[in-house]
This record gives sequence, structure tokens and C-alpha cells, in this order.
Amino acid sequence: MSVSSLHLPATFRQQILAHLQACLPEEGCGLIGGCAGQGQQLLPIPNQLHSPTAFQMQAPEMIAALLSFEQNGLELLAIYHSHPTGPLWPSPRDVAAFAYPGVWTLIAAPTSTGWRIRAFQIRSTKIHPGKILWQNESTVRTRFVLL
Ligand SMILES: [Zn+2]
Repeated sequence: MSVSSLHLPATFRQQILAHLQACLPEEGCGLIGGCAGQGQQLLPIPNQLHSPTAFQMQAPEMIAALLSFEQNGLELLAIYHSHPTGPLWPSPRDVAAFAYPGVWTLIAAPTSTGWRIRAFQIRSTKIHPGKILWQNESTVRTRFVLL
């Protein structure tokens, strides 16, 4: 698979950043379900480490999210988390802990021009930056599910 871009509703950007900023100073995390590179369902997950420099998704909520994707005919498309003090790049820990080949890693971090989100593919410890194409809501059918 050589997908180099990910399509997400622009509303996901606002929701992801609102969630991650609400988690400050801790890292926040969540999952995006979709198919064929198109994000359709966004689910914030609690960070059970409650750490400003690391995250681990709380297992029951993560399992519930994956089941929800499956029930909606979606696959796990992306895992997002924040780096509250940067950088806008996967950490060595992120790379070492990554266990979902083909699934996008989204990192959000503050920059000199505000918070940004970048997408990466992590393959056998190599980091490949990708592109997020943010879409207006009118162009895509989306589902929002809140836990
Ligand atoms: Zn990280």
C-alpha cells in the first residue's frame, strides 16, 4: 500500500484540536475510522498514562471504538495524539510502540503559527510524512459519534 494522502472532513480538524487542547497539559489521543483513505468517524480515547510526554489508549474505550468502526463497516484509518510541547514529528517511543502497519499516525502540536496536525506512515521504524486533505463538510458524508 502506498497511500500518500488522507482525506478528512475539516470538522475533524476542529474536533481533534478542541479535544487535544482540553487534555492539556497531558497528551490526548483518539481514533479515526474510515475506508479507502476517507475518514468518517472520529472517536476521542482517554490517555491512561495521563502524561505530558506519552500516551497509551485506555483499553475498554479503544476496544469499544474499534467495535463501533466494525459495526459501521469502517476500518481503523488513523491514530491521533498530541505533543503538547512539540515536536510535530513522531517520537522514538511512538515509532517503537507503533503496531498498526498501514494505519496513519496523526500528530498535533503547537507551532509559531498555532496548532498544526501532520500525518505520517510508520513502516518498520521508518517515518514517511503524508498529506492530509481537509474537506468541507458539504463534500463528504460524515458521522459523528461521541462516547
Ligand atoms: Zn507521540
